[in-house]
Amino acid sequence: MKDVNIYNTLTRKVETFKPIKDKEVSIYSCGPTVYHFVHLGNLRAYVFADTLRRTLVYTGYKVKHVMNITDVGHLVGDGNIGEDKLEKGAKREGKTAYEIAEHYTQSFMNDLVLLNIPIDKYIFPRATDHIKEQIELIKKLEEKGYTYKTTDGIYFDTSKFSHYGDLAKLDIDGLKSGARVEENKEKRNITDFALWKFSPTDSKRQMEWDSPWGVGFPGWHIECSAMSQKYLGNHFDIHTGGIDLIPVHHTNEIAQSESANGEKYVNYFMHVSFLNDKTGKMSKSNEDFLRLENLISFNYPALAYKYFLLTAHYRSEVTFSYEGMDGASSAFNKLVNWCKENKTDGGVVNVEYKNKFDEAIFNDLNTSQALAIVWGLIADKIISNEDKYKTIISFDEVLGLGLLEMKKEEVIIPDEVKLLLEERKSARENKDFKLSDELRDKIKEQGFVVKDGKQGQEVEKSD
Ligand code: AMP
Ligand code: ZN
Repeated sequence: MKDVNIYNTLTRKVETFKPIKDKEVSIYSCGPTVYHFVHLGNLRAYVFADTLRRTLVYTGYKVKHVMNITDVGHLVGDGNIGEDKLEKGAKREGKTAYEIAEHYTQSFMNDLVLLNIPIDKYIFPRATDHIKEQIELIKKLEEKGYTYKTTDGIYFDTSKFSHYGDLAKLDIDGLKSGARVEENKEKRNITDFALWKFSPTDSKRQMEWDSPWGVGFPGWHIECSAMSQKYLGNHFDIHTGGIDLIPVHHTNEIAQSESANGEKYVNYFMHVSFLNDKTGKMSKSNEDFLRLENLISFNYPALAYKYFLLTAHYRSEVTFSYEGMDGASSAFNKLVNWCKENKTDGGVVNVEYKNKFDEAIFNDLNTSQALAIVWGLIADKIISNEDKYKTIISFDEVLGLGLLEMKKEEVIIPDEVKLLLEERKSARENKDFKLSDELRDKIKEQGFVVKDGKQGQEVEKSD
């Protein structure tokens, strides 16, 4: 098995991946908060996670991949304040919070399928289905003395965890001086966060549960600690998310899990940079975010967006533009057409190109270089098309552009064109090339291109 090198946010270095269990990898990826559609920025995070999964499978690992669905507890404000995003979504649309969650979870799954992210290869646990596990974990933290109670909930005391903030290299003193006024004044430390929040006394929440501390709902961070532990164990290999999750969400997950279990939480944290729009980070709170469906309505193939993402390294910021999408879409279509034209059952994987591709992809998922290698292979003058095809299809196990499924389109020739073809055939037999050329032009007017190959006339639809 070849070495896979990945950038680890914990050490800020590219490291050779070493699994906890031989030939097996456990991955947890932070999924969507389902109070609205996922946007192109969110999809960048999931395409990245899936490219990582695909790379590890391609290398020979068995991968167990969990992606959570946040359907409760993610509040609008930072610092454990503000409305629950799900309850806010419910008000916006006049539906129940559960209906909102269901609707946007389905829509998220559809987008994954459109991007050739195989949902049957994932476990998608929902926070609301794991309230018991979250309560158990909070109880464990309470027993070990990491928690305290305020009027609005049960909090984690971050001063009790000596490694707090290591992942983000947090400057705790700097944070203290920049403390926000609306923070809960009863918090002992600025970085403390809610594990369990009590339901408000003046209004009724739709999502609330009984707990040893009173009726309420779990904080956002505890769900990821509880669900990763349930499906992957206390200590697992890789955790992914967007870079916005480093300073608070992942920092707090580490604090909770390591305090409760007394062992290391995750060996490798991997974070994807932002997809920006003209104004900065694309985000759901900004209502004019772009969705995959918008691109499809402008006639871009969904997978051309994936191609667009793969042209940049996951750790560099990308600004979305239609010019960029046009470029990606035309390259993607060319690649698809090449694969359709050259589809074959024969051929062998070219080792020289495979080595180049592997070097790129195992170097912290350098997908842009990997795509350049694909184009280099297509342009190669020596290798047969059969071998090229076979090699590209093997690369697609990582790229996930659905190239294997692309079928050569059957050309349906209308009767009038068939007639013109017959006439042209006899003109050529009679060596009347002038007539033959005229007929070729007539055929072109009907939207078809005729070429004279070894098997006689070959017809294609013109572009
Ligand atoms: P959310 O639905 O806001 O909880 O985010 C779901 C995932 O998408 C998280 O891993 C975020 O870090 C990631 N994410 C959110 N916005 C962007 C963006 N503009 N670019 C890349 N990743 C993002
Ligand atoms: Zn998470």
